[in-house]
Amino acid sequence: MSEFPNVLIDRFGRRIDYVRLSVTDRCDFRCVYCMAEDMTFAPKQNILSLEEIHEVARAFVELGVEKVRITGGEPLIRPNILSLVKSLGELPGLNQLVLTTNGSQLHRLSGALREPGVTRINISLDSLQPRRFRQLTRHGNLDQVIAGIDAAIAAPFTRIRLNAVILKGRNEDEVIDLVDFALQRGVDIAFIEEMPLGMIDEHDRALSFCSSEELRTIISRKYALQPMGESLDNAGPARYFRTAAGKSRIGFISPHSHNFCHLCNRVRVTVEGRLLLCLGNEHSVDLRRVLRSPDYSMEVLKRTILAALPIKPERHHFDLGATPEIVRFMNTTGG
Ligand code: SAM
Repeated sequence: MSEFPNVLIDRFGRRIDYVRLSVTDRCDFRCVYCMAEDMTFAPKQNILSLEEIHEVARAFVELGVEKVRITGGEPLIRPNILSLVKSLGELPGLNQLVLTTNGSQLHRLSGALREPGVTRINISLDSLQPRRFRQLTRHGNLDQVIAGIDAAIAAPFTRIRLNAVILKGRNEDEVIDLVDFALQRGVDIAFIEEMPLGMIDEHDRALSFCSSEELRTIISRKYALQPMGESLDNAGPARYFRTAAGKSRIGFISPHSHNFCHLCNRVRVTVEGRLLLCLGNEHSVDLRRVLRSPDYSMEVLKRTILAALPIKPERHHFDLGATPEIVRFMNTTGG
C-alpha cells in the first residue's frame, strides 16, 4: 500500500483539491493595483523550469488535487507555455485545467489552449475605455484584449469569466458597462475587491477601495440580482448572482467584506517554487530546494507537501490602512 494519502486535508478539516501554479512573475501589463511601475523580476536561475512545474503539478494531482490553475504574472508570455499546458492536460486524475490571463495573447493562442484540455479561462478586464484601460494597465491595448476575449468565446471554452478590480474614482462608473459587456457576450463576470499585496505608491488603497456591497448596489439599480448559493460549481470565493437579462453569472470576490477562508480549498506555488499555504499570509515551504536537491525523488517532494499542510493558517487578515503585511505583489503570488 502507498504511504501517501489520495486526499489532502488540512488541520481545520478543509480538503485541498486545487493548486494555482504561477508559471512566470513577468507580465506585459503593469496593472496599477497589482505591481509597481518599475519591477524587478526573479532571476532566471531561480525560476522553475517547465519540467519542474510539471513535476510539482504531478505530485499534487497524485495526492488528490483535481484542479490546477495556470497563472502568473502573465502565463501566456512564458516561452513554450503550450508544451506545459499539453503535458498538464495529460495528467491522469486531473479533472480541471484552467487558466487566468490578461487576454493580450488570446487572439493567437485560444485555439491552441483549448485543444490540450483547458476548459475554463478567466480574463482580466477593468475598463472598456481605451485610454483608461491603458492607464490602469500601464501598457495594455484594449482592442487586442477584446479580440482575445472574442477568440476565447469562439474557441469555445466551457466557461469564461471576466475579472474586474474596481477602484473608486477610477473605473467605478464602468461597473454597469462591464456587466452589460459580459451579458452581451454570454460570459461570467466577477468583481474582486482590491487586496493589499505588495507596496504600491500609485494610489492609496484605503481611498480607492470599493466593497462588493457598493458594487452590488450599483448593479442592482439596473439589474435585479438573484443569489445562486455559495458552493455552486466550485465557485470558490466568488458569491454568484444571476439576472433575468442573460445566462451570465455575476460574482463578487470579497476578501475584505466577506471572508471566505472557511471554504478555502487551495494552495499556490510561485514560479520560484515557493509553496504558499495562504494568499494573505507568508507561511510557505521551499519546493525548489527539494526539486534541485541531489537526492530528489517524487516521494520526497510529496512528503514535503504533506509536511507543509499543517502550517496552512485558518484565515487571512487584510488591513488597507496599514503598511501591507504581505510584501510580495500579486504577480509573484500568482493571482
Ligand atoms: N496576468 C493574469 C491576469 O491579468 O489575469 C494573471 C495574473 S493576475 C495577478 C490575476 C488576477 O489578480 C487579475 O484578475 C488581477 O486583476 C488580480 N489582482 C492583481 N492584483 C490584485 C490586488 N492587489 N487585489 C485584487 N486583485 C488583484
